[in-house]
Amino acid sequence: MSIQRTGGCVCGSVRFVAHGEPARTLQCHCRFCQRMTGSTSYAQSTYPMEAVRFSGEPMSRYSHSSETSSKQVHVHFCPRCGTTLSLTFERWPEFRAISRGAFDDPNSVSISTHIWTSSAQTGVMLPPGTDCFQLARAAPDGSPQTPECFDTPRFARSDA
Ligand SMILES: [Zn+2]
Ligand SMILES: [Zn+2]
Repeated sequence: MSIQRTGGCVCGSVRFVAHGEPARTLQCHCRFCQRMTGSTSYAQSTYPMEAVRFSGEPMSRYSHSSETSSKQVHVHFCPRCGTTLSLTFERWPEFRAISRGAFDDPNSVSISTHIWTSSAQTGVMLPPGTDCFQLARAAPDGSPQTPECFDTPRFARSDA
């Protein structure tokens, strides 16, 4: 039997079960994620679309045009409490992101990658041993970017 992780929103109206291991768990420091969460960043686990089953209240959806790719990003949230549970992407229709903070045990998935560190807020630390990208993991044309990996914790911004 494969591993399952459960989670849900603040008010409990939306629940989910995520099957198997996520392809990756990353933390995004882009301005969109900062505004969407009202926080420093958005940590998310990437799953194949069919690996996550939702139950309870149907989620509401907000669609946003990405400034960098002009592709749509869809934010899926609880209509009662507003918790963001998932993102889906026009650019990667076979995957969905699950909000790490919405898992019943967020620490059961570990962050391997930080992206958009160039727009990270002051005071944000990048842990050692993770792949850190100043922008996205791939350029708009799809070509992969090269991450930095640090030996010691460091501030994302030199003006931190
Ligand atoms: Zn809710
Ligand atoms: Zn982001």
